[in-house]
Amino acid sequence: MKRKEVNSSRIPVYRDAGFELFDAQTTADAFRKEAEHSREPDKYIYSRYRNPTVESAEEEIMKLEGCKWALLTQSGMSAIDTALSIFQSGKETRPWLFFTEIYGGTISLIESVLKPRRGLDIQYFTPDNGNYDLDKFEKVISDLKPELVYIESVSNPMLIVASVDYITKIAKKHGTRLIIDNTFATPWLNKPLNEGADIVIHSATKYFSGHGNITAGVLCGNDKNIMQSAIEYRKFVGHMLSPDDAYRLQTQLQSFELRFSRQCSNAAKLAVYLDNIPAIKEVWYPGLKNHPTHRIAKKLFNNKGFGGMITFNFDGKDNNEKMKRRDKFIDLVSEKIKLIPTLGDPHTILMPVEAVWGTKYPEPGMIRLSVGFEEYSGLEETVSNALKKIG
Ligand code: PLP
Repeated sequence: MKRKEVNSSRIPVYRDAGFELFDAQTTADAFRKEAEHSREPDKYIYSRYRNPTVESAEEEIMKLEGCKWALLTQSGMSAIDTALSIFQSGKETRPWLFFTEIYGGTISLIESVLKPRRGLDIQYFTPDNGNYDLDKFEKVISDLKPELVYIESVSNPMLIVASVDYITKIAKKHGTRLIIDNTFATPWLNKPLNEGADIVIHSATKYFSGHGNITAGVLCGNDKNIMQSAIEYRKFVGHMLSPDDAYRLQTQLQSFELRFSRQCSNAAKLAVYLDNIPAIKEVWYPGLKNHPTHRIAKKLFNNKGFGGMITFNFDGKDNNEKMKRRDKFIDLVSEKIKLIPTLGDPHTILMPVEAVWGTKYPEPGMIRLSVGFEEYSGLEETVSNALKKIG
């Protein structure tokens, strides 16, 4: 069959592993341009390097983050690996400073790979009373002179909102690179690249995909040199996203703002509801006035919402009673709110915190909710019916 132009309005799934280059001159030109890391859609060579369907999904993310480049990877972890690895320069590498309140998988990467295998000097910065002390942070930075600082704009599961604006200023002042995992906040609430962060990463598995059916990651930025290093690293290590996943991600991104804004409004209502239940001792939601970082969130998120995640803790006379209440709640809501260890899905899902985090968050009554974009009254009804039975 002869190849012909089709009047489709979308970029299709280009599954070619290698693209046709026709002759030696075209091949030489393509490889030369490739080495210059041009993103021009001139001639593609090989899908592990560059792929038109993947580029098209990256353009959607660039629009959302308002940035100059975005690079998709096979998972959030491979985006994190890429963002970090490009700043490793052998024995010359200065220490890397990580906030302690980051995704457990990132901590595992540090403890199992970066420290023992790559021999990196990793230091941690811990919050006090559920908030980051920025004077202390500046002192650590000026003493340690780290190569980079790595933070999450909204932490998991306590939902500590970082003062991304001040943290960026401090990092810039001391010549430190700043990488921000913006998975929980999303660009709907905050765009750290506008403040001057060097790289923003997302687990696109979560709100960007939004349907629990794609594993993907992305790193975004404005600096061309960083982009070139990241393109090279993604290519050499083979972290590229598949065209099929990129196509589905691109489609699902069309509804991102609609979905996420609804998740924020559902979560805000549910957090207020849970905060008034006597059997619940604490509710952590940045939109509640009693959250340690409520004021930071209010300023940073510009009244657009406070995210779709809520963590709450059942009360009880002892740990046994707290655990019983947690388990009964999980059982009673299980038809509608499933225990699925991810977040950002269409429907509300939950995770028992102590069962996942162990000694880091040992409270047996604690549950983390990822609030979905289902109709709110049905969601509150499910929760309230369960709570009535728990007493
Ligand atoms: N960053 C955050 C905040 C996450 O919650 C996760 C996964 O849960 C990741 C990164 C890793 O993403 P992935 O599972 O897509 O590799």
